[in-house]
Amino acid sequence: MVSPVDLRSDTVTRPDERMRSAMATAEVGDDVLDVDPTMRRLEERAADLLGVAAALWVPTGCMGNTIALMTHIQRGDSFLAVRDAHVINNELGTPAWLAGGMPQALPELTPEAVRAATLTAGPYYSMRTSLLCVENTHNAGGGTVLSPEAHARLVAVAKELGLAVHLDGARVWNAAVATGVSPAELTAGVDTVQACLSKGLGAPMGSVVGGSADFVAEARRIRKMLGGGVRQGGVVAAAGLVALERIEDLAVDHENARVLADGLAELGWRVRAPETNIVLAEAPEMTVPAALERLTELKVLAGPMAGLVRFVTHRDVGKADVDEVLNRMKGLAWAGSSSTTARS
Ligand SMILES: *Cc1c(COP(=O)(O)O)cnc(C)c1O
Repeated sequence: MVSPVDLRSDTVTRPDERMRSAMATAEVGDDVLDVDPTMRRLEERAADLLGVAAALWVPTGCMGNTIALMTHIQRGDSFLAVRDAHVINNELGTPAWLAGGMPQALPELTPEAVRAATLTAGPYYSMRTSLLCVENTHNAGGGTVLSPEAHARLVAVAKELGLAVHLDGARVWNAAVATGVSPAELTAGVDTVQACLSKGLGAPMGSVVGGSADFVAEARRIRKMLGGGVRQGGVVAAAGLVALERIEDLAVDHENARVLADGLAELGWRVRAPETNIVLAEAPEMTVPAALERLTELKVLAGPMAGLVRFVTHRDVGKADVDEVLNRMKGLAWAGSSSTTARS
């Protein structure tokens, strides 16, 4: 029987033996009452890697973003994020209904767009902008990377305009590996950052949200309000510690994404050259749902994103699996024959 190759997301990974044994033997305590030692170790390690004073484990990236936005936004403020940012499109409106912020979508994440969209001085009844939310890598953009230089320019303009900066760094690890810098270089100047342990790094759950010690003290209160205070969380934090040892492995996912993108282009698909582990593509003359259906018949699992087919490489899919996917796809005509790879 043909086994499925799951490229829907880098969240489908399963903890391996080493991760499971770290979980099984984790030293634990009650993190709501006082402290779980393994969670604390994870938080210190994450803060260190991210170059922030302190960090807090949270069950999901969405909760990390929500907590950060709740600390930065006062009811009625506006906040800026790129048009198809995760905080705008994929968090069920929580930045508005929990954090009380009016989202203001930027056409692109550039200093010029930030400047043009910022609402500041005006009469007391005018909207004011308090936060810039940056996403690196940019999921809906196809895992695109904001370079340390581009990041620094955005932070500089935000500071000049008096905006706080939150980095939605669900895949900041991928951005760091792709640019060859440390994750801390990609958080320079931000007030808060959220990073996922459950995506490319392979932990079954968990994210961290970091910033100043004062921010983390407040974040701990808000996490509890949202129902995210956990007791013997060391069992999952242990997986997070193993995950953080595996950042460099992401280079393999990036290479596999390139191989996949090249192969798709050869099959006549229009492909955006991937910068990290996400490939956005379309089969010419075929709708996204139709293409996904054909892929499913071949037991190649992908998903829709930004009006395109999204394939995500991850640690449970090797080069051999990517070759296998392309082989299965070769058996079918994907309309048209011209292959164009748009290099961006
Ligand atoms: C996945 C993701 C999140 C949310 O993480 P969850 O753990 O799924 O809640 C936030 N931002 C971006 C950019 C993401 O890709």
